[in-house]
Amino acid sequence: MLLKMVSYRRFRPIVLVFAALIGLMFSCAPDRGKPAVTKLPDETERKIRDGIRTMFPGAVTFEQYTDSLLFFLYAVHRIKPETILLGQSTCVDDVLNTKSPFNEHMVKGPFNFGGLGGLPFTGLTGLSAYAHHVPDSGAALLLVGPHIGYSEESGWGMLHREGQHEVTTCCGALVAALGKLEKGTLKVQDPREPDYQEQTLEQLALKHKGEILDSKVPLVTFTKLVNGEVQKIMSNLPRHEVHFRYVITIVGVIINTDFGYPDYIWVDKMSIYDLETEQYLKIMEK
Ligand SMILES: [Zn+2]
Repeated sequence: MLLKMVSYRRFRPIVLVFAALIGLMFSCAPDRGKPAVTKLPDETERKIRDGIRTMFPGAVTFEQYTDSLLFFLYAVHRIKPETILLGQSTCVDDVLNTKSPFNEHMVKGPFNFGGLGGLPFTGLTGLSAYAHHVPDSGAALLLVGPHIGYSEESGWGMLHREGQHEVTTCCGALVAALGKLEKGTLKVQDPREPDYQEQTLEQLALKHKGEILDSKVPLVTFTKLVNGEVQKIMSNLPRHEVHFRYVITIVGVIINTDFGYPDYIWVDKMSIYDLETEQYLKIMEK
């Protein structure tokens, strides 16, 4: 059973009351056209969840996962949210921060490593800087992975964003690279300015061309490949002669859904490493 970490969610009641008032205001306001800010039917939510789980079995809502993780860290290991610094190698897409469930907790951060697609373009220097910022005797919490949209009306790779009438691509950077791969317009080259990040993703797509294009949903396959690349780079976090105690690593894919619906996370690997005892306290792998 997923447990809620109520004690660390001081602001949630205020937010919910405020949201209810705003909802009431909108329900009384004249029709402003779509998107409507209303409670969505459970049936639609179930359809989205089931659609997501066809490609990401076991995916849970990002909010449920975050609540359970923080509860577990405190209940079992006495790691308090305020002693954790979130470091995320996720895409620069604003949707990841505006809907991040970590915003509701006392977790510090995020320190952002990711550029387009979630690849940690800040490199080893970014990892070193982050390590210096973790609270004393606290925990480094690394959230590692790309994202993908799943729209109820348009499926994989699309998203209905707040304040917009039409759906847009998500992850736009991966969709753009995949589009060029499918058209056969990509060629081997060193990524260079002024579009260094996108070209890095394009070269990755080109390297795995057969695997991506032969798969059932190429964008999902490409997203999972990017996930592997992000992991490789993020495993270089300094672990010796540091002032903090734990390294918590969550590797997976964040699945963003239409505005008004919960986002999901599919966790590929999760680990908690105690730097003091030099032991893994927990490891979970798919
Ligand atoms: Zn993106």
